[in-house]
Amino acid sequence: MAEHRVVCWDCGADVDDPYVSTCPKCGGLLSVTMDLEPVKEMKPQDLRKEMIGVWRYAPFMPVDPAHKVSIQEGGTPLYDTRRLADNIGVSKAYVKFEGLNPTGSFKDRGMTVGVSRAKELGAKVVGCASTGNTSASLAAYAAKADMKCAVFLPSGKVAAGKLAQALFYGAKVLSVDGNFDEALDLVRKMAD
Ligand SMILES: [Zn+2]
Repeated sequence: MAEHRVVCWDCGADVDDPYVSTCPKCGGLLSVTMDLEPVKEMKPQDLRKEMIGVWRYAPFMPVDPAHKVSIQEGGTPLYDTRRLADNIGVSKAYVKFEGLNPTGSFKDRGMTVGVSRAKELGAKVVGCASTGNTSASLAAYAAKADMKCAVFLPSGKVAAGKLAQALFYGAKVLSVDGNFDEALDLVRKMAD
């Protein structure tokens, strides 16, 4: 695990409280700043000793792998797309098939880290506002971690297949009479 600081994107303040999602001083968005000095000596072959996937890069993450919640995300195939390369005038073009992640989207890459961090902090419930892929992904990782999951959806703006996924994984799905931002506000209030 890399040492890290959480800093405000807007005012630059250090944020020590791990339970806030925005800057307590100015309400700005937060970013994670990693201290990568200890991993500077690592070589690609050191990483290749680990199974392919997101957790191969654990030394670069702000979470202790002892709390890892993983369903083998990442390591998706790369397709050599010769005609696409010709069309856009480059010698090689590869396309990564992120639909082969466990819940069918790239969201699983971030979610494995986020839910692992939640587990590290002792969270019993996780939640999100989403119209699709995020809710399916969070619900799956919550199920894997034996946490409860609440999904807030703006009513009428939801991908039905994704909603079914969240339900199958056991999430509590709440339809919000409002837009995405209002659903997100509710999630933040619930978290508080
Ligand atoms: Zn701030």
